[in-house]
Amino acid sequence: MEDKKVYGVRCKACGKELYPAHALCPECGGREFEPIEIRGEGVVLTYTDVYALPLDYALRYLRLAIVELESGLRATGQLLDDDPKIGKRVRVTVGVVRERGEEKIYGLQFVPV
Ligand SMILES: [Zn+2]
Repeated sequence: MEDKKVYGVRCKACGKELYPAHALCPECGGREFEPIEIRGEGVVLTYTDVYALPLDYALRYLRLAIVELESGLRATGQLLDDDPKIGKRVRVTVGVVRERGEEKIYGLQFVPV
């Protein structure tokens, strides 16, 4: 596993956690956030395979999932599972989700527990 971390944000006004970050809190309209590390385990709420990807993706397709973490945060990331199921338990990791020339872009990934 890569020694990288992915951060979401927590609204300073209402405590709502978001990943990816938004400019405005969808719960209360707040604009001030503090970073939170996205980690731990959760369950797959839904997933989908995306085939029409930008050229800098090294993948043939991208399997995206929305996972509800133990904190209640619903995070979107890449699902690394050949046998995905709704309700399946997964763990958060961080890996390279795309490469732009020399630059590697890290993002959230989910693997089965
Ligand atoms: Zn808020």
